[in-house]
Amino acid sequence: MCALRSQLPFTYQGKHDFSAKLTEWVGQVFYDVLPGYGYEIREEQVYTAFQLAEAVCKGKVHFAEAGLGTGKTFAYLLTAVAYARFKGRPAIIACASTALQEQLAGPKGDIEKLSRLLGLDIDARMAKDPRQYICDVKVNQLHNPLFAQPSKALTSVLHWAGETGRGERSEMPNVPDRVWTQVAWDEAMSCETCSSRGFCRLVKARQHYRSAVDLIVCDHGIFFDDLWTRDEREADDKLPLLPNYSTVIFDEGHKVLLPAALRAGRHVVQEDIDSMLSSIEQVQGARTSLISIAYAMDKANSRFFKLLYRSASEDERTDRLTVQISDELLKAADILRRALLTLHFELQNEQELHIESLSHTRLQAYEAMVERATLALERFGRNRGKDTIVWADREEKSFWVVPRDLSGMLNKHLFARKLPVVFSSATISTGGDFSYFARTLGVQEPSSSSVGSSFDFDKQVLVYLPQRLPNGDPQNWFPKALKRLASLLRLAKGRALVLTNAPSDVRRIRSGLKEYRLPYEFLWEDSAERGYLVRKFREEVSSVLVGSGFWEGIDVPGEALSLLVIWQLPFPPQDPLIEARRREAVEQGLDPVIAVDYPEMGLKLKQGCGRLIRTQDDRGTIAILEPVLGMPWQQAAMGALPVGAKVVHNLDGLDILKPRSSSEQKRLVQAAANINSHL
Ligand code: SF4
Repeated sequence: MCALRSQLPFTYQGKHDFSAKLTEWVGQVFYDVLPGYGYEIREEQVYTAFQLAEAVCKGKVHFAEAGLGTGKTFAYLLTAVAYARFKGRPAIIACASTALQEQLAGPKGDIEKLSRLLGLDIDARMAKDPRQYICDVKVNQLHNPLFAQPSKALTSVLHWAGETGRGERSEMPNVPDRVWTQVAWDEAMSCETCSSRGFCRLVKARQHYRSAVDLIVCDHGIFFDDLWTRDEREADDKLPLLPNYSTVIFDEGHKVLLPAALRAGRHVVQEDIDSMLSSIEQVQGARTSLISIAYAMDKANSRFFKLLYRSASEDERTDRLTVQISDELLKAADILRRALLTLHFELQNEQELHIESLSHTRLQAYEAMVERATLALERFGRNRGKDTIVWADREEKSFWVVPRDLSGMLNKHLFARKLPVVFSSATISTGGDFSYFARTLGVQEPSSSSVGSSFDFDKQVLVYLPQRLPNGDPQNWFPKALKRLASLLRLAKGRALVLTNAPSDVRRIRSGLKEYRLPYEFLWEDSAERGYLVRKFREEVSSVLVGSGFWEGIDVPGEALSLLVIWQLPFPPQDPLIEARRREAVEQGLDPVIAVDYPEMGLKLKQGCGRLIRTQDDRGTIAILEPVLGMPWQQAAMGALPVGAKVVHNLDGLDILKPRSSSEQKRLVQAAANINSHL
């Protein structure tokens, strides 16, 4: 047996035998080994692990949907480690956020736990977003006495930067974003030609994760950065961002499309161009040609963005505003593109002339930014924008251009490579049907497995679908829905999360509820920072949290969340990425409402419902204040509710909302506090 095979926790005779032996080992781990350490046997977990192992061994694209509490992380980790050792290449685990990367691969994380319990000695390394590292060039610039005196917070970061070995943000968790961005890598930095590469912390971090034996735990963004640039980097004799890998497993797989689009796209940021131009205009003794193109660009930049915002639709539920493409906008984009090209030429001249008024690094950063913006506008102008999805980003004040054929790109760069790819999540299917997700990714014939949560929903959840709430007339519906909400909150004695679709709903509910004089503390999403509000909601048991941004990613076990109110069903906004899917559906002869809007709504509703039950001890009610039964979307909405939960239609049936006895409540509050201390 070769050295590589000896690292596997089981033996096998040949390639044909690997799959069967892997399945056998997975079964042993879940049925024999882990129960010895106090882990319960969960059939949903074992089933997911078996299905996933089989799909990976067959080189399939697999959708693994596993409800809350099934333990899908251990289920995929076993196969990932074994398959990496079998193939002699690490497996990629791509997470949706840095926090999830830490939870998995950080100290005391799931991988460390599994490694210890099974004696596997797993070599797992994190590939974090480069923005999580300091850039020495930026740090050195800030030490330059010509720069303004740094603030107190920045001074302490600069002091730490001189001493740190890793240079990672997680070592300075309390540094605010505005300070961190002054020292962190950003896409304007030209690492390829940087003279500090030899001792740069970011470069060292890359070298470190590159040699991982078993697992590389990255985020979705880095994965797609690598995927979209891999061919180009290899053609230029550069190392790809990630080493060759044996398989990729996406944790929170339902979230891949946005990072895939953003990393494939290019954008023009109005403020970045403005600040570049103003620093060029202040250069002492600058050449006339440079100054005159800076002035011309200033005009072209403001005209283009003025037209862009005039052409953008307003939908407060998304920051990505759909843009109406017109001849005027295309012309303004072309004028800006040509001005950028001239500026690029002048910046190159400037570098060759070695003018000291702008540092070499600054010139390089400007050049990189100009190249990116030019590329974005060039793509937009080609074929009158028909090959792209474009939007104006309200928050960032930028213009985004993303290739329309994302599914084609995924096919070419990922699925066609015949690598096993797993998308794991609690919400991929709508009522067990994976076709919407498969269509958006462009995956042909994926394998799939779906298991519900291991919670006992028929005992833990009631669904309240009120009758006699009017549909179709918001003026008539609003006061009635508000009255019903007030009754529900009274019945539950607060302890509720109210999910809305837009910040304006929150404002209207806030003003409408005043007349009901409810004696609970209301935590409105616009009243404080999100993390603070969620903490307060967990601690103040009778409080009510209201917002449009809590559909996923918040964990409130225990009594504090006993009532989940869906103010209105979460139909998707006028987001350009969704618009593109609607258009594709039409091209395929499908009804866009049924093929896109209903499944999107169902997936978001499922995520929202997932906030209610977080432990075996939790119980509560989901109330949907928009009509569901008898509506065209009934099937999509009902398919998103916890399986087995009983549906009631009047408030008398909501016994489950009544607070428990004081001793039971005390015990549960303590249990929730114990869980919260680990969150
Ligand atoms: S290699 Fe990149 S991140 Fe590192 S110091 Fe140079 S520019 Fe900054």
